[in-house]
Amino acid sequence: MAHQWRGVIREYIDRLDISSDNPVITLGEGGTPLVEAPALAKLVGAERVMLKVEGMNPTGSFKDRGMTMAVSKAVGHGAQAVIAASTGNTSASAAAYAAAAGIKSVVLVPEGKISLGKLSQAVAHKAQILQVQGNFDDCLDLARVLSENYPVHLVNSVNPDRIEGQKTGAFEVVDALGYAPDFHVLPVGNAGNYSAYFKGYLEDFNEGRVKAIPKMWGFQAEGSAPFTFGNPVKNPETIATAIRIGNPASYDLALSARECSQGQFGFATDAEILWMHRFLSQEVGVFVEPSSATGAAGLFKHSKMGEVPAGSTVVITVTGHGLKDPMWALKAEDGSDIEPTSVPNNAAQVAEQLGLSKN
Ligand SMILES: *Cc1c(COP(=O)(O)O)cnc(C)c1O
Repeated sequence: MAHQWRGVIREYIDRLDISSDNPVITLGEGGTPLVEAPALAKLVGAERVMLKVEGMNPTGSFKDRGMTMAVSKAVGHGAQAVIAASTGNTSASAAAYAAAAGIKSVVLVPEGKISLGKLSQAVAHKAQILQVQGNFDDCLDLARVLSENYPVHLVNSVNPDRIEGQKTGAFEVVDALGYAPDFHVLPVGNAGNYSAYFKGYLEDFNEGRVKAIPKMWGFQAEGSAPFTFGNPVKNPETIATAIRIGNPASYDLALSARECSQGQFGFATDAEILWMHRFLSQEVGVFVEPSSATGAAGLFKHSKMGEVPAGSTVVITVTGHGLKDPMWALKAEDGSDIEPTSVPNNAAQVAEQLGLSKN
């Protein structure tokens, strides 16, 4: 019998903090592919590099893994509305899961800093969207205050249900490989996902499913890199809008995850992120949003410092789909716009344009 993936709660119910009689709000999230990236392995000098392609989730990012848990539990508690601050993907996910649950969603996004793809998702799923005159960190402060004083349930990653659901990404890596990779690499914004993968690997380790925990490598954008600089960044700036976060909500959790895993934090410049964004599309065949290329960009940078031993196995979570923020693919390396060439409806002239000679 063919097996239909049932979403992360039903697939991992015995390993998640949710009771078996809690309602399950799912859109079939998780079960995403681990894609071999030989071009990237060659680039960084590793034995094997694989991408955990989280753009394949129902709303196009890993946020769905945590949202199924957070919204299911909110519904279990009788919530009629959820609220989230978002750089875009959390709002898309919250709106979709709230729609599936038949409850309301409210999303607070920083004015002018959310990609069209993500905004359109929140609108499509009928979220109440407010653009706040401030940055993401301001939105999160507001969402917290509102959830403490009004009947709206907070579904940001400060809600532990989110991290709990997101740890299933690590379970799936271990289930697919049969072991843990030497390195697990991720882009870092609020550091919820970094902390969640560590939690998943730690549980697999404690329960004897793996013999070691991967070194957790987290990368931020240079203009938004509080983990590198050791203190919050007041006005974070980067084209990688999903990780444009100056005051990470899971700061302490992530620091202990780094320590326990003997991992590290680093950063990549916007130019390095966009270079890797193009490399992943052109050489690997995986189209991600720019933020999602930050992990691979950081890995490449650190490989040039000699930090990736030959023979290593590396898994990189690529967090969101390229169609979320497609305008970057339409820009050439020099920043000019790329447009398809117009040709007449004539085979000889098309062949000439393509530089083909007749056989
Ligand atoms: C949310 C998000 C991130 C950052 O994840 P954190 O848990 O905030 O560190 C990275 N990439 C994409 C595409 C995201 O949506």
